[in-house]
Amino acid sequence: MSAQITTRFAPSPTGMLHVGNIRTALLNWLLAKKHGGRFLLRIDDTDAARSREEHVAAIRADLAWLGLHPDGEERQSARFDVYEAAFQRLAAAGRLYRCYETSQELDLKRKVLLGRGLPPIYDRSALALSEADHAAKAAAGDAPHWRFLLDHETPITWHDGIRGPQHFDPRQMSDPVVRRADGSWLYMLPSAIDDAEMGVTDVLRGEDHVSNTATQVQMFAALGAQPPRFAHAALLTGTEGKLSKRLGSLGVDELRAEGIEPEALVALLARLGTSDPVDPALDAEALAASFDLARFGRAPARFDEADLTRVNAAIVHHLPFERVAHLLPEGMGAAAWEAIRPNLTQIGEVAEWWRVITGPVEAPAFDAETLAYLVEAARVAGGLDWAADPWSALTGALKETTGRKGKALFLPLRQALTGMDHGPDMKTLLPLIDKSEAVARLARG
Ligand code: GLU
Repeated sequence: MSAQITTRFAPSPTGMLHVGNIRTALLNWLLAKKHGGRFLLRIDDTDAARSREEHVAAIRADLAWLGLHPDGEERQSARFDVYEAAFQRLAAAGRLYRCYETSQELDLKRKVLLGRGLPPIYDRSALALSEADHAAKAAAGDAPHWRFLLDHETPITWHDGIRGPQHFDPRQMSDPVVRRADGSWLYMLPSAIDDAEMGVTDVLRGEDHVSNTATQVQMFAALGAQPPRFAHAALLTGTEGKLSKRLGSLGVDELRAEGIEPEALVALLARLGTSDPVDPALDAEALAASFDLARFGRAPARFDEADLTRVNAAIVHHLPFERVAHLLPEGMGAAAWEAIRPNLTQIGEVAEWWRVITGPVEAPAFDAETLAYLVEAARVAGGLDWAADPWSALTGALKETTGRKGKALFLPLRQALTGMDHGPDMKTLLPLIDKSEAVARLARG
């Protein structure tokens, strides 16, 4: 790729980001990073009635949590002058025209066409209106909405980074409404204007935008701009094979509350829908380096929360202490984190294991023989150098003196020391338990 590449994530702040939006943001970030390019956040807030500042703040916070830091932020609501100027140019060039049909009238037209087995394409009847007709409408207080006049003579084609060669016949498409009668903007034209003006080289979004792209290809041409490269990713589906209600609302807050780490979401979403396996060992930079649109298929990408939980556990097992230090119980150091992390499926579970180290722990009831064994263990432990692998020394000595081996040797010690039958490797765990506390736990049996 030649010139610097620029991608953008362009959410409308009308709600919280869900997994599908997060994936779009991530793929755009990866594409930009792979090429040392720029990743822009563009807040598509032309719809003042539905856009909310709290959602803008949440979008920024979610991206920050994911580590997807934008190289710039733009807001459409700050750019109405730019849209107005482009609008005037396109109108003067005859590429925009005024229409007055109500939505009921348009519905009826569509139904008639469909009833005749024809595609429901807008019939362009407003193009026949004369200036006198427009004047009469204005005099009657009837404001127009505006459509973009597709060029029927120029077939629409692009090479989609995921879907391959695309062809659309503009005659089979309705001229899109770009501006409402109240002067407000629909999404399509401002987006094309911005992509052109902001030097966006690559538009990567969900395949629900394919038909918008067909229209926007002509908008770029009408604006005298080179269209960006386009790629449309197959949509996410839930495990049932369709976009579930849950998936449509599942966002960062909930995932975070469930103990999912951003690294896990990134590792899974970067590879979903591709032929590459999810690799928890790859961080975001490594994922960017190996990012390749050609690996994405056209089949729907199945998002399974059970996969996410598994990836999360695998990630937690490798998180370095510095990454988690602020999330750990007071006083817990690197050695304790490293001993405990292989037993976690999420960081939140660490408190339970930290309590095993600090105490108090409750041991099960032992029989008399085991109690005697534990008393012997306490005696041996009391004489050990705690700085020099006390677990190997303890079990080695007890094997000699008691003749116990295997489970009979290890399990009562684990139970007395931790109150549990399973858990972190005792060799790493025991030195973390204060010596006198360990001796007391053994002696108490
Ligand atoms: N605001 C649009 C959306 O959220 C942006 C689509 C795009 O061009 O990426 O659907």
